[in-house]
Amino acid sequence: MAHKVLIAPRKYVQGKNVFQEAGDWIKPLGSKALVLWDKQVKKIVGETFAASFLKSQIELVDVDFKGDSTKKEAARVAGILKESGAGVCIGVGGGKTLDTAKAAAAAVGTRIVTCPTIASNDSPTSSYTVWYDEEGNCMGFESWGVNPDLVLVDTQVVANGPVRAFVAGMGDALGTWVEAEACFQARGPNLAGGTSTMVAMAIARLCFDVLMEHGVEAKRAVENKIVTPSVEKVVEANVLMSGLGFESGGVATAHMVANCLPSFPECHGLMHGHEVGFGVITQLCLDDNKKINEVHSIVDFEVAIGLPVTFREIGLENIDRKRLMKIGEICGGKGSLCENHPFSVTADDIVNAMIAADLLGRERRAAAGLD
Ligand SMILES: [Zn+2]
Repeated sequence: MAHKVLIAPRKYVQGKNVFQEAGDWIKPLGSKALVLWDKQVKKIVGETFAASFLKSQIELVDVDFKGDSTKKEAARVAGILKESGAGVCIGVGGGKTLDTAKAAAAAVGTRIVTCPTIASNDSPTSSYTVWYDEEGNCMGFESWGVNPDLVLVDTQVVANGPVRAFVAGMGDALGTWVEAEACFQARGPNLAGGTSTMVAMAIARLCFDVLMEHGVEAKRAVENKIVTPSVEKVVEANVLMSGLGFESGGVATAHMVANCLPSFPECHGLMHGHEVGFGVITQLCLDDNKKINEVHSIVDFEVAIGLPVTFREIGLENIDRKRLMKIGEICGGKGSLCENHPFSVTADDIVNAMIAADLLGRERRAAAGLD
């Protein structure tokens, strides 16, 4: 039997206006740091970082992110990192920026710091980079074998950010427990190179409970750009618990379905967490051991926070069985994450579960008086 393995970042710091102290937290890692960010992010937090670095006497190597986490972009950043002699590589922004910074740091062998400005997925704590090609298609993911040295999350910056991204983060985090549980029951592998610990399972479950209890409250607060205790809790669920939970707990059908959606051009406007949100419902519809009340409460939660729960909402209205079979075949194929269930999953099962998910989503939206 495989060993139990848990992995995590070396330090996690979360709080309101914590970016104002970025230098204090980064200084122990090195006194010269490359910062990768896009123009929009730099406009929001650039001065805060620059002032804090100055105070802590950290030299800042400023690099513009070109916008996609491609191997080409990671190689470009790695080149600058090496040439500059900086000992720390810092990604500031969304998942793609952080993933590219992680890849560059791994290539050069520097310390890595992630500073998410939105809580839209669980990339910040993980050892993984999700690769895309130049057209925006997901090309799979790669582990660097090490997690970030430091994760800095400024909850005020997150609360000032787009509500849609915050909601997507809850979608990604919602997968954590249902997928870790499936993996555990199947004695399947996690993404840390072993099987899950009791700690990973407890974190995954807490992630779920925090979302269900505080998700709606937190969304309302973020709509008004305020940081409340619910926002702090949900940011911790979206970033820390979801990150530790998926990596050390394991993933299954919800992520497998989600990872197939970016290959449909109609889905290109969606964020990863929106796709996982629909994947969660698909997985629930696949599993014969789920209580229907529990399934309804999860779908109702997704409806309440505004996650997409129907084909129409993910851009695939009127999709036929033949096109869905493309997803079915990948999911039902060998080596698929759908093997992480205590039952076997065929292409046909996936197609049926997606159709059932759409029907259930429509029914629960109607029950909420939305359509
Ligand atoms: Zn995810």
